[in-house]
Amino acid sequence: MDWKRVYEEFDDLPKAEQLQLFKAIQDSLFPESREDIANMIGDIREIRFSGGLACVHCGSVKVKRNGKYRSRQRYLCGDCGKSFNDMTASPISGTHHPHKWLKYFQMMVEGISLPKIAEELDIHVSTAFYWRHKILNALRSLGFSTLKGIIESDETYFLESDKGKRKIVHRKARKRGGVAKKRGISKEQISVVVAQDRNENVLSKVAGRGRTTADEIDLVMGKCLDNEVVLCTDSATNYKSFAKKKGIQHEILNANKGVRVKKGIYHIQHVNAYHQLLKKWMERFNGVGAKYIDNYLFWFRFLESHKQLDKKLRKRTMILEANSCD
Ligand SMILES: [Zn+2]
Repeated sequence: MDWKRVYEEFDDLPKAEQLQLFKAIQDSLFPESREDIANMIGDIREIRFSGGLACVHCGSVKVKRNGKYRSRQRYLCGDCGKSFNDMTASPISGTHHPHKWLKYFQMMVEGISLPKIAEELDIHVSTAFYWRHKILNALRSLGFSTLKGIIESDETYFLESDKGKRKIVHRKARKRGGVAKKRGISKEQISVVVAQDRNENVLSKVAGRGRTTADEIDLVMGKCLDNEVVLCTDSATNYKSFAKKKGIQHEILNANKGVRVKKGIYHIQHVNAYHQLLKKWMERFNGVGAKYIDNYLFWFRFLESHKQLDKKLRKRTMILEANSCD
């Protein structure tokens, strides 16, 4: 076969297919540099086993190297007898497409839509969705760190979306997005509590449906507060009861009475700004199924807390954080 003849036929293809062919040739000539994949796996290994090599199944340190499979190092546990590799039990374990995952992480920190990702990586949209939540589940499993010092907190609401729900039991299905039938805060609204300290430590979590109660606030952040904290909120009574129950110093900012800052340091402007950015960011998904909201909260939290990093570093950080759990 003569390459010139192949090239002649290239002209007959529509522009879009020419581009696809170009990408296919590029991929086979320059497979996503093997070095990048090796680096990624090396990085993941270092962070997962930063406390020493240990069995991912039982935690035993009686682990020895046990050959390679598909060029990946395998380990055998001397206690439970199970084997594992650097990625076992991480979101990318068992993948046949490490280079696609690399690109996936990149597109995720860039906020590229699922259909676009699916097209780019030549995977099904439902696979792209599944990968998204595999990564977000892993990020979520890292949990929150303890909030210290001055803490600002407030709740915000998201209208429940029917997306991702097979069966609507408690009411008629509504098209995605949509408008609440009832005015004000009803059970159709998912309440999200956001709390953050002045070290940009953020906690954001679904509290429940409808108006947030003091008990729900306690469930969301009760265990994540340092001993000596000052809680700043608006004048909502749920926070008053929560602070009282926990014996926490409470600074109330009553915006209706024009109180926005107290003693020069107590205010809720950071958490309000966070709400606004979060709401704006969530718009792109046209409604999120209730059971996925926590995942999206973690995603946004990740992007916000690493926004000062350049894209490449942000990708690397996401890969490491998503694969550090075990
Ligand atoms: Zn073991």
